[in-house]
Amino acid sequence: MRKIELHWQILIALILGVLFGIFFPAAVGYTAWVGDLFLRGLKMIIIPLILASIITGVANIGDVNDLGKLGIKTLMYYLTTSLLAIITGLFFVNIIQPGAGADLGFVNEVDGLEAATGSFGKTLINIIPTNIFNSLANAEMLSIIFFAIISGYFITRLPDNHRNKLTSLANAGFELMMKITSFIIAFTPLGVFAIIAGVVAEQAGDRGALIETASRMGLYMLCVIGALAVHAFVTLPLLLRFAGGISAVKHYKAMSTPLLTAFSTSSSSATLPLTITAVEEKAGVSNKVSSFVLPLGATINMDGTALYECVAAMFIAQAYGIELSVGQQVIVVFTALLASIGAAGIPMAGLVMISVVLSAVGLPLEGVGLILAVDRILDMFRTTVNVLSDSCGAAIIAAREGEHLKYE
Ligand code: ASP
Repeated sequence: MRKIELHWQILIALILGVLFGIFFPAAVGYTAWVGDLFLRGLKMIIIPLILASIITGVANIGDVNDLGKLGIKTLMYYLTTSLLAIITGLFFVNIIQPGAGADLGFVNEVDGLEAATGSFGKTLINIIPTNIFNSLANAEMLSIIFFAIISGYFITRLPDNHRNKLTSLANAGFELMMKITSFIIAFTPLGVFAIIAGVVAEQAGDRGALIETASRMGLYMLCVIGALAVHAFVTLPLLLRFAGGISAVKHYKAMSTPLLTAFSTSSSSATLPLTITAVEEKAGVSNKVSSFVLPLGATINMDGTALYECVAAMFIAQAYGIELSVGQQVIVVFTALLASIGAAGIPMAGLVMISVVLSAVGLPLEGVGLILAVDRILDMFRTTVNVLSDSCGAAIIAAREGEHLKYE
């Protein structure tokens, strides 16, 4: 019998998960452990995978000039796409005006809002770890990435005998992590089924309230999803074509497994092992590029989240009847960018980060309560766009580095 391809298996699992969550909400308690096991497996592999992948990638680049060029291209790509995404969101929210006349009686309490408004300068300083083992234990991604980059770089500065040993150790470690990753990926359909069933059952728990929320918030959801769709189906394909000479259809097809997983898990970090595998194996991007662009991208390049931060803040302003000047909207754009960089790649991280944008333009923080009810659903869409943009970045940068991409 012909084996069904993994992305089809995942899609079928997703649909079955939705049906299971709708029709047997009481039974999801029995399947939840499967989703937990899958997520634990992914989380188990993330830190060693990032470490091994970046050290090998950078050690194999060798030349500091090449590394610098790759770094600049990567950051340019991140900034450009995030800003384009935000501007698309701003356009939609100004045209549709979903917040005008929204019902303010709908505000829910949200915890942890104050915590997110830490200073940006401090975040930058914290990238240098005081104790790398603490950073590893606490999954402080930027510190881990920093340490991995300098380790990889200084491996290339060692005398031959040490350099060769450490480079082959890092290569072997990376191969090992990829083998474990492939093993975990085989369970994706089961994990996706259980996670989606759980999310659907939770959302559908009080069906009346859900339908009411969705209809009140319909315009807002439409605005976010419409703008995300434009970014995913117009902006990124154009960039792929004109900056990388790559066909979006081929690229998106090759990325179907990580994209469906991002949608189901709402976590770019958890999806990272699948993104690296797909970009290397299905698109033929070298480890040198993917190991640099993807872990960093999963942490700081979030186009979907950036767009969402902007639309959500504008929606809250409209709902409170606060007119934002052009100058204030520019501040919204830049703080949305910062908030997306600061958001962790975990479910609903973007929700709390909105307080950064709100406080920058003096909007009431309680406004976040207004959008809470539909955040989990929108999170699935924005996370998919986050992962999509990282993968496009890896492909475009690889193409511009002169690599010959081979889409399967
Ligand atoms: N869930 C998103 C991610 O992992 C972050 C967010 O909440 O916007 O990419």
